[in-house]
Amino acid sequence: MRERAEAVAQQVQKLDTDLGLDTGLYAVLAGLDATGLDADATRVLERTLRDFRRSGVDQDETTRDRLRELSERAILLSQEFSKNIRENVRSIRLTPDRLAGLPQDWVDAHPVDDEGLVTVTTDYPDVVPFRTFAHDAQARRDLVTEFLTIAWPANDRVLQEIFAVRREHAALLGYASWADYDAEVKMIGSGKAIGEFIDRITELSTASAERDKAVLLERLRQDRPDATDIDGADVSYYAELVRKEQLAVDAQKVRTYFPFESVRQGLLDVTGRLFGLEWSLVPREDARTWHEEVATYDVSFQGERIGRIHLDLHPREGKYKHAAQFDLARGVAGTQLAEGVLVCNFNRGLMEHDEVVTLFHEFGHLVHHVLAGRTEWVRFSGVATEWDFVEAPSQMLEEWAWDSDVLATFARNTDGATIPAELVRAMRRADDFGKGYDARTQMFYAALSYDFHVHETDDLTDRLRELMERYSVFPHLSGTHMQCHFGHLDGYSSAYYTYMWSLVIAKDMFSAFDHGDLFDPEVAGAYRDKVLAQGGRRDAADLVEDFLGRPYTFDAYAAWLAE
Ligand SMILES: [Zn+2]
Repeated sequence: MRERAEAVAQQVQKLDTDLGLDTGLYAVLAGLDATGLDADATRVLERTLRDFRRSGVDQDETTRDRLRELSERAILLSQEFSKNIRENVRSIRLTPDRLAGLPQDWVDAHPVDDEGLVTVTTDYPDVVPFRTFAHDAQARRDLVTEFLTIAWPANDRVLQEIFAVRREHAALLGYASWADYDAEVKMIGSGKAIGEFIDRITELSTASAERDKAVLLERLRQDRPDATDIDGADVSYYAELVRKEQLAVDAQKVRTYFPFESVRQGLLDVTGRLFGLEWSLVPREDARTWHEEVATYDVSFQGERIGRIHLDLHPREGKYKHAAQFDLARGVAGTQLAEGVLVCNFNRGLMEHDEVVTLFHEFGHLVHHVLAGRTEWVRFSGVATEWDFVEAPSQMLEEWAWDSDVLATFARNTDGATIPAELVRAMRRADDFGKGYDARTQMFYAALSYDFHVHETDDLTDRLRELMERYSVFPHLSGTHMQCHFGHLDGYSSAYYTYMWSLVIAKDMFSAFDHGDLFDPEVAGAYRDKVLAQGGRRDAADLVEDFLGRPYTFDAYAAWLAE
C-alpha cells in the first residue's frame, strides 16, 4: 500500500510540474476577460496566474528547460541530504557507571556489550535524554559533539549545491535571491523583511534570554566554580536541574489528572463550546476507517453537518512517528464536505501535559480545516492561508491547555479531584523558563536559513560560527558542523523564521480574548467567522486585522517575553 502511495505521489508531483509549465493552459487563463468576476473568482485567477509565472511558464524555452532540470536536480539533492542525515548514525561507547542520572527504563534498554561498554547513539531517543539527564559532563560533551557533526563532511557539499541550484532558479525568474522568491507568497513578503524580523525578535528577547542564562550559569558554577560561559553540551542538563530544583513541578503527579479518555472528551467539549460546534461519534461500521482505534466524529454547526474528523491518536507498529493533521477531503460549499485526520502517538493511559498541549495544537489545524471547508473555491478551502500564518491558529489554541479554568472542566484524577490552579501556574512557570534564550536560539536557526540563501559563502561552518555569535546567547561548540544535519535548511529553505512569526501573531490574536474567561462566545465567534472560516479567501494580514480591528503588532509577544 505504501509503495503504491509513494509511486502515485511521484506521479502527482510530476503532473504538478508539467501543469506549472503548460504554456497552452497558461495562454487560455492569461487571455480570460476578468470583468464581472466576483472577489473570490478574481482572487483565484490572480493567484493562478501568479503561480504560473512563478513556475516560469512565460519564460523562453531554454529557460523553461533549465528550470525543469533544476527542479529535477533539486529533488535528487534533497533526497541525498536527508539520506546522509538518516544513515550517519554516530555513537559513543562508555562504561556503565557513566550513565548515572539517566532514568532506569532508559538504562535497562542499553545493555552492556562483551567488552563491558554501553553504546549511546545520536538518534533522538538516546541523545535527548542523555544531554538532559547524564551527570557525566565529558560524556555529554562527547555525545553532543557527535550529534552536531552528523553528515559532516558529506552534506557540506550537498548544501552548497542546493543553495547554488536555488540561486540559479531565483535568478532565472528575475528575483534578487531565493529568499525573495520564496517570501513573495508569504505574509512576510520579502527576503529583506525576514532579516528585519530576525533582528527584531533578537532585540525583544535579549533581556529575558540574559536573565535566564544567568540562572543557568549560576547553577553551573555550583559544580564548576571557574565556569565563565555555558554551551550546548550543558544547556539542557542545567535547564532541567533549574526546573527541578527551583521551579519544582512533579511530572508524575501532573499526569494523574490527564487520563486519555477524559482529555479527548474534554478537548471536544472545550472546542465545541468555544466555536459552537457539535461532535457526534460515528459508529465504527459506518466510519469504515483504517484501524479500530480510530474515533470518527461528524461535525455540525448550527444544526447543519459541515464535515467529518478522524482521531488516530495512539502509536502502533509501522505508524507515522510524529503528531500532525492531514486532509482527507477539502470541503467545497454545496459539493463536498471537509474531512480531516489527526495522526498522533499519545499514551493510552495517563497523558503527559505536553501531550495534551500537542493535542490542542493539532486539533487547532483540524478545526481550521473543517470550519474553512465551506468556501466556493477549493483553492481557498481549509488551511489555505500563507504558509507563515498556518501555525498561528494552532499555537493560539495551545493557550486553552494552559488555562486552569479550562483544564478544570476535564482534568480530574481517579479520585475525582480537579487539577489545582496553583499546580497549573507552577507548570506554566517551569515551561516559561528559558523562553528568551530559546527565542535567541530559534533566531540563530532562522538567520542560518535566511543568510545561506542570500549570501554565497566558501566556508559554511565559518559563517555559521559568525551567525551563532550574533544571534544565539550560547557559544559555538568547537569542531562541530550542525548545518550538515539541520534538515530544515532543505525543507524550509530560507523560511525557518515562520514558526516564530506565527507565534507573534498567535500571541497578538490571543490578546483579544478575555484571559479571565476564555469561553467568551462573542470573541470566539468573531475569531471563528473572521479568521478560521475564511480559509484563504483573503490575505492573512487582512483576516487578522478584521478580527482585531487593527493591524497585527509585536506588543503581546513582547509582553509575554517580559513576564
Ligand atoms: Zn502545527
